[in-house]
Amino acid sequence: MEKDEYFNAGYGSVLNLRGEVEMEASIMCGQNLNVGAVTLVKKFLHPISIAHKVLTDSPHSLLGAEGAELFALEKEFPTVPPESLISENAKKALEDFLQHGVFGRTEIGIENKADVGTVGAVAIDENGNVAVATSTGGMSGKAVGRIGDTPQIGSGTYADNHIGGVSTTGHGESILKYCLAHSIIKLMEGGLSADEATKTAVEGMTSRLKNTAGAITLSKDGDVGMHFSSNRMAWAYIKSNKIFYGINKDQELVDDYVN
Ligand code: ASP
Repeated sequence: MEKDEYFNAGYGSVLNLRGEVEMEASIMCGQNLNVGAVTLVKKFLHPISIAHKVLTDSPHSLLGAEGAELFALEKEFPTVPPESLISENAKKALEDFLQHGVFGRTEIGIENKADVGTVGAVAIDENGNVAVATSTGGMSGKAVGRIGDTPQIGSGTYADNHIGGVSTTGHGESILKYCLAHSIIKLMEGGLSADEATKTAVEGMTSRLKNTAGAITLSKDGDVGMHFSSNRMAWAYIKSNKIFYGINKDQELVDDYVN
């Protein structure tokens, strides 16, 4: 998905005020609470793979900017020219933003096509191991060096085998003030279902901070939660050989899933 320009991650990431891609990603393992995250990455196609390497091969949890890139080089990740990550749609989105955007209040869109969105994935295996990964280009028109919620564990990503897993998207400055992913986890720990917890925390954040977000959640028992206060959020999940998906409010489509 980081290769697909219809997602705001890797190639097709949205641009900062200087017209550059600066990517962020995080990953968490619910079995041992191990984490790996990177931020301000400019010349690699797959920040999530670097974040995973931080999880497996580094004594640290979050590496940023030059340090993240030095680590990636040391681990032999191939570099790409930073300009090769810039899509025409991301350029157009920055131009639109510069003309009439307000940071945090402008939904990023590609005309007549699906909105581009951060990539979040939440999974549970047959042994009950929960894993969550989130990868983003951030928000169009962000300042150079701005860091959002995605690489911050507890805001963009959280996983705990004892409770479940969450990945979030939306206005990073609000999500990180509210520790949105961990807020959902705490509500589930207190007894709410994945769906109730996700709705309560997302709406709670929006009513308190007046900005929008979305989250996808799995409980330790495999129950799905999903909610967004933005106009749209592309989502999909697979359960019992069916794929459920949607993008607009109250839209839930179902097809058979052939693996
Ligand atoms: N949450 C991301 C950020 O603020 C953006 C997004 O999810 O679309 O960096």
